[in-house]
Amino acid sequence: MGFDLHTHTTCSDGTTTPERNVADALELGLEGLGVTDHDTTEGFERARRAADGTPLELVLGTEFSAELDGASVHVLGYWIDPGYGPLIDELDRLRDERTDRARRIVERFHALDVPITFDRVAELAGEAPIGRPHIAKAVVEVGAAADVREVFDRYLADGGPAYVEKHAVTPRRAIELLVAAGGVAVLAHPGLYGPGDEGLDATVIERMAAAGLAGIEADHPDHDDEQRRAYRDLAAGLKLEVTAGSDYHGEAKENRLGSATTPREVVERLRGWVRG
Ligand code: AMP
Ligand code: FE
Ligand code: FE
Ligand code: ZN
Repeated sequence: MGFDLHTHTTCSDGTTTPERNVADALELGLEGLGVTDHDTTEGFERARRAADGTPLELVLGTEFSAELDGASVHVLGYWIDPGYGPLIDELDRLRDERTDRARRIVERFHALDVPITFDRVAELAGEAPIGRPHIAKAVVEVGAAADVREVFDRYLADGGPAYVEKHAVTPRRAIELLVAAGGVAVLAHPGLYGPGDEGLDATVIERMAAAGLAGIEADHPDHDDEQRRAYRDLAAGLKLEVTAGSDYHGEAKENRLGSATTPREVVERLRGWVRG
């Protein structure tokens, strides 16, 4: 059944707990589960406790926010040491930046006559770093849209009227930091960047490969067949691994847990990945 290498929990913008994801992964018969919350390692211990004594193998990581020319780029970092100081510092900075940005997005909504409050958004995020899905939920609550998807379509998608970019590190710095933290860096959903989801340029990915990238998540539920093929070919040309993950967010997204899985041998090659 393989490893679903990309999932979220209530520790970031998913709606299901780490315990629940572990239980559901076992129920589905998955061999392994990647725990990849945005900009946090908070879910590690909870997932570990839940998986302890079960056959499920965890691949603990984070989906690290980077940006390039104002556009977000997500870098998955697996097997990172959550105690590595420079990583903790950067994650703290990202969390603060997410909070400031959420305040600016709330102001944008006020200008658009959507009366959400920052306090409610913060409450919806709880302990998690605030993400756009938390804000979208607040917008649905005040009746300005029917569901989260509509909020993204009308307001919050990259470049939308309520969109505010977040200031994050460059992809190169993200990769270097994740590798320095003992991890392995994989480019998440390369086809989903840019206002029209036009995807990342091959030259950008080549530069990321030179910075120590180990793999490309070519197999993502939101990629079409052509994108999957293109990113597979690119990975082959750059001698990078190809990974698959569902990007599960519970009820916050349609992607289902286990809907994309990476074979064990790829996970093992990634685990031992050293820059060639
Ligand atoms: P942020 O990290 O705050 O920039 O928010 C990005 C997150 O918003 C992604 O990880 C997804 O969870 C969610 N997201 C982005 N685009 C959409 C969309 N079109 N529909 C639903 N959720 C989305
Ligand atoms: Fe997310
Ligand atoms: Fe992502
Ligand atoms: Zn994700």
